[in-house]
Amino acid sequence: MVVDIVSERATITNMITDLITESVKDRFWKYSGKSGPEQCWLWTGTKNRAGYGVIGIRWMPNQKVVSAHRLSYTIANGEIPDGLSILHSCDSPTCVNPAHLRIGTQADNMKDRAARGRGNAQKGEGHYKATLTTDDILAIRASDERQVDLAVRYKTSQTNISSIQLRKIWKSVP
Ligand SMILES: [Zn+2]
Repeated sequence: MVVDIVSERATITNMITDLITESVKDRFWKYSGKSGPEQCWLWTGTKNRAGYGVIGIRWMPNQKVVSAHRLSYTIANGEIPDGLSILHSCDSPTCVNPAHLRIGTQADNMKDRAARGRGNAQKGEGHYKATLTTDDILAIRASDERQVDLAVRYKTSQTNISSIQLRKIWKSVP
């Protein structure tokens, strides 16, 4: 089974409401693209390759980066139980309007994707490009996973992962 990298990462870095400080909320609202209650709020901050907004909620040395729509859900509804996904009723990954977000299982998520024909686009080796993005760098630095596992996932070498985490390379990324 192909596991969506965003959901997987979101599960690893599950929300902790204690980390949602006023300054995190301020930054969330700044990038939320908030508009009418019925409309999609299209995240204006950083996005990952899958099109989901991401936001840092804790800084070095224990940096934590989470999905913007999960943060939105948590601000609106409280903590997301372990292992559950937040699904978009509007099929817009960038949207962070809590009215368009609902809780579901990973299986629901896969079913939704398949029904919308987005699942196929995510499958296969080609999905994970060798070129790393800024979001990848943030995620790699925030990850608790072993370097070898990250190397496999991001199709790069363990040495490269180590250099990223030690900030020997990609110094431009905070
Ligand atoms: Zn929406």
